[in-house]
Amino acid sequence: MTLTDTVIAAGTDTPTAAPPAKPERWTAQWKELKAEVIDASLCTGCAGCVITCPHEVIGYNHGEGGYKPFHLEEELGADNCIHGEKGCTTCTRACPRFRIWEPEADEHLFGRVRKPEEMYGVYQDLWLTRASDETVHKMGQDGGFVGAMLLWLLDHDYIDAALTSFMEPPDADGGLSWKAKPGVARNREEVLASAGSRYTYSANTLALPEALEAGLKRLALVGMGCQTSSPPVMWARKAGKVSKPFQFNIGLLCSKTFDDAIFEELFEAKYGLHKRDMVKMNIKGVFQIWMRDGSYHEIDLKECHQWTREGCKSCPDFAAEHADVSTGGIGEDNDWTLTVVRTDLGKEVVDRMIADGTIIARPAMEDEKAMKLLRLLSIVSRRRWPLAADRAPSIGVPEPKKKAAPAAAAQRPATDAVAPAPASSVDAAVVADVVAADVIPQFEVVGVSEGTPAVVPPEPEPAVIADDPTPGGD
Ligand SMILES: Cc1cc2nc3c(=O)[nH]c(=O)nc-3n(C[C@H](O)[C@H](O)[C@H](O)COP(=O)(O)OP(=O)(O)OC[C@H]3O[C@@H](n4cnc5c(N)ncnc54)[C@H](O)[C@@H]3O)c2cc1C
Ligand code: SF4
Ligand code: SF4
Repeated sequence: MTLTDTVIAAGTDTPTAAPPAKPERWTAQWKELKAEVIDASLCTGCAGCVITCPHEVIGYNHGEGGYKPFHLEEELGADNCIHGEKGCTTCTRACPRFRIWEPEADEHLFGRVRKPEEMYGVYQDLWLTRASDETVHKMGQDGGFVGAMLLWLLDHDYIDAALTSFMEPPDADGGLSWKAKPGVARNREEVLASAGSRYTYSANTLALPEALEAGLKRLALVGMGCQTSSPPVMWARKAGKVSKPFQFNIGLLCSKTFDDAIFEELFEAKYGLHKRDMVKMNIKGVFQIWMRDGSYHEIDLKECHQWTREGCKSCPDFAAEHADVSTGGIGEDNDWTLTVVRTDLGKEVVDRMIADGTIIARPAMEDEKAMKLLRLLSIVSRRRWPLAADRAPSIGVPEPKKKAAPAAAAQRPATDAVAPAPASSVDAAVVADVVAADVIPQFEVVGVSEGTPAVVPPEPEPAVIADDPTPGGD
């Protein structure tokens, strides 16, 4: 019985009496990774395979339209690997989209797979939090929780540094490229410099070699779900010593990221907004942009849709389900961080941060809208997962209730039957929302995910904050 079979059994309440089968020998290498993940459009560009490869034969394309790994050696061509042919399997052991990644990571972290109705994964506590330190709060995208947690982990000797995201430094004129860059934060200054959200991709895992070269061995990884699922998958599949430095895993809720080309091809070409003059951006129902001259602009998210990064289009993980703690900005008050505490380690640290006053916390259940959105957006993302891939991420996901619902249901293979989520008034309301989400472009839903739609234009930012190390912060 495979893990997926166990999930199906759990979903249908069928007792699983069969003894666990002896695990099969893991033989999958780059050849299988290329065919089953990269060529099958499941690859998110998380770079888990790149950082684990002991032979350093996997490259990574950071450019526009890229964010994908590729094989560097020509010996067997792009689709095969001579080290793989000789028995190396490390890259597939690190890939959080290879085969039954979701149940494997669940089992490893929580000792069980998620139940079919657990749309946003296994968790222990749900909080709305904000940093007590005013600077940390102000520099953060939402409540500054992530920054506060990194500082707490450093101060309390849980980690030596964190793999986070920075921006390329401004040019001599103060102009920014808005290119997000993976980097290492080891102190307060660097944590604050990396705070805030950029909406292009930054594979923070790629900062691992920089950290190791500096002798930093206990690391926190900050990243979207595609990245924070990688360490648990590595641990579950015994990828070896490369997985050891990851001591803490902080997830960012995420529906999609944009290709860097959006700056020139949309913002500049259509609206005359040059990225070098942008000082800040955010997504709150619309794409918000603040410029150096003090002007403020809103761009309809539907217009941005075509620049969605390729790697996000099949991603089923909105809620960063395999992090110790996952964080987002979907609360009613957009200066609080929705904080999903998942593992025992995450709980230990969050409880201590609350107890010593590092963060202020209130129960997230008080914010019904945030709770509903968390589930709704998790469903929307799960629906993107292709039916041809492993079934686990699709289990329990309600069918879209459209007029053509019977025909749509008929298209799903019989073997892919899933247990419906339990009927309750909450579920009924959520399903109604999902139905609504299905009839509007998905991108609008993504906009909602980043907080309350902007009905009143926010206060413009100071005209010039080019000296500010974190102009991307909010
Ligand atoms: C690309 C992206 C999409 C997101 N989409 C959603 C969403 O749809 N719904 C939602 O509720 N929340 C979303 N978030 C999460 C949200 O924007 C905040 O990051 C989260 O609420 C934590 O806020 P904070 O104030 O506690 O974090 P902060 O203290 O501001 O820390 C944020 C951390 O994120 C890192 N980071 C910033 N940009 C990137 C990037 N591009 N790639 C990797 N790491 C990065 C920073 O380096 C920093 O460590 C998204 C975040 C990102 C980066
Ligand atoms: S999803 Fe990540 S680990 Fe898997 S192939 Fe893509 S970059 Fe590599
Ligand atoms: S939607 Fe977000 S979590 Fe999923 S692949 Fe894209 S960036 Fe990663």
